[in-house]
Amino acid sequence: MTRTFNRRIFLKTSAMAGAACVLATPNLALGATGKVVVVGGGAGGATAAKYLRLADPGLEVTLIEPKKTYHTCFMSNEVLGGDRSMQSIRFNLDGLARHGVNIVYDTVVDIDATGRKVKTLGGLSFDYDRCIVSPGVDFDWGKTEGYNLEVAQQMPHAWNAGPQTILLRSQLEAMDDGGTVIIAPPANPFRCPAGPYERASQIAYYLKYHKPKSKILILDQKSTFSQKLQFEKAWSDLYGYGTDNSMIEWQGSDQEAGVVAVDAANSTVTTSFGDVEKADVINLIPAQKAGKIAFTAGLVDRKGWCPVELMTFESAIAANIYVLGDSAIATGMPKSAYSATSQAKICAAAIIASLNDRPAPVPAYLNTCYSVLGRDYGISIAVVYKLAKDKSRITKVSGGLTPLDASPLTHKREVGYAHSWFDNITADIFG
Ligand SMILES: Cc1cc2nc3c(=O)[nH]c(=O)nc-3n(C[C@H](O)[C@H](O)[C@H](O)COP(=O)(O)OP(=O)(O)OC[C@H]3O[C@@H](n4cnc5c(N)ncnc54)[C@H](O)[C@@H]3O)c2cc1C
Repeated sequence: MTRTFNRRIFLKTSAMAGAACVLATPNLALGATGKVVVVGGGAGGATAAKYLRLADPGLEVTLIEPKKTYHTCFMSNEVLGGDRSMQSIRFNLDGLARHGVNIVYDTVVDIDATGRKVKTLGGLSFDYDRCIVSPGVDFDWGKTEGYNLEVAQQMPHAWNAGPQTILLRSQLEAMDDGGTVIIAPPANPFRCPAGPYERASQIAYYLKYHKPKSKILILDQKSTFSQKLQFEKAWSDLYGYGTDNSMIEWQGSDQEAGVVAVDAANSTVTTSFGDVEKADVINLIPAQKAGKIAFTAGLVDRKGWCPVELMTFESAIAANIYVLGDSAIATGMPKSAYSATSQAKICAAAIIASLNDRPAPVPAYLNTCYSVLGRDYGISIAVVYKLAKDKSRITKVSGGLTPLDASPLTHKREVGYAHSWFDNITADIFG
């Protein structure tokens, strides 16, 4: 078997990269006092808040987040497949409070970059020396005719985990055997590039054992997608892909067009070629942009995402404000939870350095994405990155993909690695 990726080499390199970040921070914790306000308690924001306090217990860190419970999008596709409960993807911020982070349950409605103040919907105001913004994504509803917040109650996107995940799962359960599911992935960029295809696999996994005459039609805006060869190999191994009896059909589009309109009353979608497709369950994943607060605070470019200095994640538009995770333009890295946590640690180290008038440490960035595609069948992608010399992008140092000739045992092990990754990353963020 030829492995394009040697796990031992990756683990060794990534451990060094992780250590570079974690070990660097105590050296920087010189005891400067300062106030940091973090907007958003998801993957990026919660990690940044925790690591700031771990590195410098003298810092006053306030995290503002409206939701008391956070459902991870990561592993939410397994809920759709039926092997995972909603309870297992539900977390809260109590662990961060134990690290001395002040938690405020509220929504940030404005950031005054000049006066260094964050204002909330509840009428509170917080001064800051540094502010971190990690609000995830917002949906660009206008990009698909007929699709809006109300229609999403009938054609769920399930691209924020929670009630939408439950709704999509209940529609799959209610569907008759022989029904059709349409998945319409968005154009790039969007959160979790492998997510729609992992979702198709998890839905196929459910249908294979419960409604085997059913079909999944993926109407894509793109001509290709992340780990396409690995996904197609899995679909062929598990769901008859490439045969007349395939459970999954993928239709890509060179024009980056895909689904342009939906008709909720008739349960149809219209493609850019004018084809009208009817389905029993329609999962339309809308086009995405930076979280709303990034727009209000003036942190976005004309494409609707936040430009940042890649060495520190400080906004390229507003000084002393840092943007992490899905909202940031982290050129070279995918929008994923693991990317967000890696960026959060780099950003925390950079903020502590700047509060102590020290240069930011040289960053090492990590991302790993596991996808569970069926019973005992997982794949992964893992990359260690560094900053390019001209600082314009984040470039790959090492990493790789599950090889196409991986054995059944390797695929089975990938499932174990995926579940262990989930336990570790959620403990790292919220523990
Ligand atoms: C189906 C699916 C599967 C996925 N699978 C994986 C995976 O296997 N691996 C992986 O690494 N990633 C995965 N992801 C991607 C991952 O979920 C995101 O990339 C990650 O959550 C981004 O972190 P974030 O901090 O940018 O945003 P989020 O985690 O979404 O956190 C943003 C937080 O900010 C809060 N917020 C927003 N606006 C405000 C405001 N104005 N004031 C205060 N708070 C605010 C929100 O309530 C939210 O809690 C998946 C995504 C999906 C949809």
